[in-house]
Amino acid sequence: MDRDPESGLSAIGQALAILGDRWVLLILQRAFLLRIRTYAGWRNALPISESVLAARLKELVGHDIFTLVAYRDGRTRYEYRLTPRGLDLWSLLVAIYSWERDWTGRQEAPFLHDLCGQEARPYLACGDCRKPMSARDTETIRGPLATFSRVGLPRQHRRTVRGDTGVDAYAYCPDSMEILGDRWSTTVLAAAFLGTRRFVDFQAELGIAPSVLTDRLRRFVELDVFRLVAGDYRLTEKGLAFFEVFAFLVDWAQRELAAPPGSGLTITHRPCGAALAPVLLCTACTQPLERREVHFELG
Ligand SMILES: [Zn+2]
Ligand SMILES: [Zn+2]
Repeated sequence: MDRDPESGLSAIGQALAILGDRWVLLILQRAFLLRIRTYAGWRNALPISESVLAARLKELVGHDIFTLVAYRDGRTRYEYRLTPRGLDLWSLLVAIYSWERDWTGRQEAPFLHDLCGQEARPYLACGDCRKPMSARDTETIRGPLATFSRVGLPRQHRRTVRGDTGVDAYAYCPDSMEILGDRWSTTVLAAAFLGTRRFVDFQAELGIAPSVLTDRLRRFVELDVFRLVAGDYRLTEKGLAFFEVFAFLVDWAQRELAAPPGSGLTITHRPCGAALAPVLLCTACTQPLERREVHFELG
């Protein structure tokens, strides 16, 4: 079981352990976008091996993101339904989609906001004051026991080869997949949001092997997420904008996952002083984007 090495982790560490996997993100993406609910559905929609798919679904049921429901259709069949905790990941996936569209220049399938009839271009806002929120106008205080070390350990073997899932229109968000689909990458980025800049500090913070760290930092520079300036790895505008995704990850993790006291992050929206409560608003009508009120124009 890989739950044991994960126990004692911060909520964010646990969330990365659960979600920091390209296949998991693709399984969830298809559950939301295409309403796939069955093993056969994912098997047909993804270039994934049966054993990997079965293992990921089992883990997602174990983490209460899907629940296995029996239903009668001539004979008894099973489908995987998103639980409330799983449905709550919708905003995170939309934030990934939104960041990808804004920063990689790729043409993604547009989605429409039913409420206003316009194309939904989401922006991150504070749930309290409804003003736009960015990495720059938030303040993060880490709990005394907040640490990212060990997060990458349990499933290091999982790193999937770059680009191996890009077979159809729904395998999109490749940059996000590189960041979130690999736990070390996400933890490197999380440490950067907390102000880590130098190689030795990343190393001390994350307890990461130098070769792995070198690889991830180099890749982030290639992706224009970091810029190397006088020995500092600084977040670029594109890197800073990924805060949109990070905010939903932190919010979901800290609401849903039990963790040791003092291991969390306290993020505050500085202009209003409210605790992190990220929402996605529609650029056209400034109303919140709700899962049931948007739909994708699938070509
Ligand atoms: Zn606010
Ligand atoms: Zn709208």
